[in-house]
Amino acid sequence: MDKIIHYITKEGQFQLTISDTTNITSVAQEIHNLTKTTTAVLGRVLTGASLMGSMAKNEESSLTLKIKGDGPVGNTIAVSDSKGNVRGYMNDSKVELPIRSDGKIDVGGAVGRNGILGVIKESSYMDPYIGQIPLISGEIAEDITNYFAQSEQIPTVCALGVLVNGKTNELICSGGYIIQALPGASEKDLETLEKVVTEIKPVTQMLSEDIGIEGIADKLLYPFGYEKMSENNIKYVCTCNTKRITKALITLGKEELYTLPKKDGAVEVICPFCEKKYLFYDKDIDKLVKSI
Ligand SMILES: [Zn+2]
Repeated sequence: MDKIIHYITKEGQFQLTISDTTNITSVAQEIHNLTKTTTAVLGRVLTGASLMGSMAKNEESSLTLKIKGDGPVGNTIAVSDSKGNVRGYMNDSKVELPIRSDGKIDVGGAVGRNGILGVIKESSYMDPYIGQIPLISGEIAEDITNYFAQSEQIPTVCALGVLVNGKTNELICSGGYIIQALPGASEKDLETLEKVVTEIKPVTQMLSEDIGIEGIADKLLYPFGYEKMSENNIKYVCTCNTKRITKALITLGKEELYTLPKKDGAVEVICPFCEKKYLFYDKDIDKLVKSI
């Protein structure tokens, strides 16, 4: 079971949200038949969305992270609830790019370096919040850091990593963290954190060393002293059901509903997040049209 933990430093300078998303990325790999490259892309976006979604103050909220770049994968979307349970997909999950000369998977090349990162926060209590900024690298973590700096004016460090076996395509580990400065952080605190973050190993390397996310959190926060605020198990969860799919179909309108292509006498709607198939026969479509 994957886990997400929230920490705060003793004097309230920083908060850290950290997760191991190895199972989530592995489920995504299976649902969407991901390649090495797209496992890294979707794994990072899922992890980023889950971390950001779990930082919400409101229990009933959800966060959508959309990465629209000019690279071959097209758009990548992930949606998280306020606990960090997440789902996601991309336009083209079959893309495979050559490994970069430094041995890393070319996430920036697959996503594209020009485009936008969009964040939508929704809850039943208020109007949705929509923020968007241009991509800076397409590597996702840098783009999330930049999003917090630009859109929310919060000094942030974000690291995301997905490690895949180069020969077998097997996922080894996936995870990440977001550290944010709180109003109590001094210049000196920021300098100390910067030094820690510059010297720390890549997140996938630490995850594969088996020190657990608690061990990684300690490496990040030890100069400050810290305490655990909360801990949750997280999963890849799709929230689709017949009611939701029906609602989406109704928005197409009467004429459009009658001209949808059919396979074996039924309109087939496939949930992009979990690939579940929903079938609508003529009598179902008639019922839908009557309800409009
Ligand atoms: Zn679904």
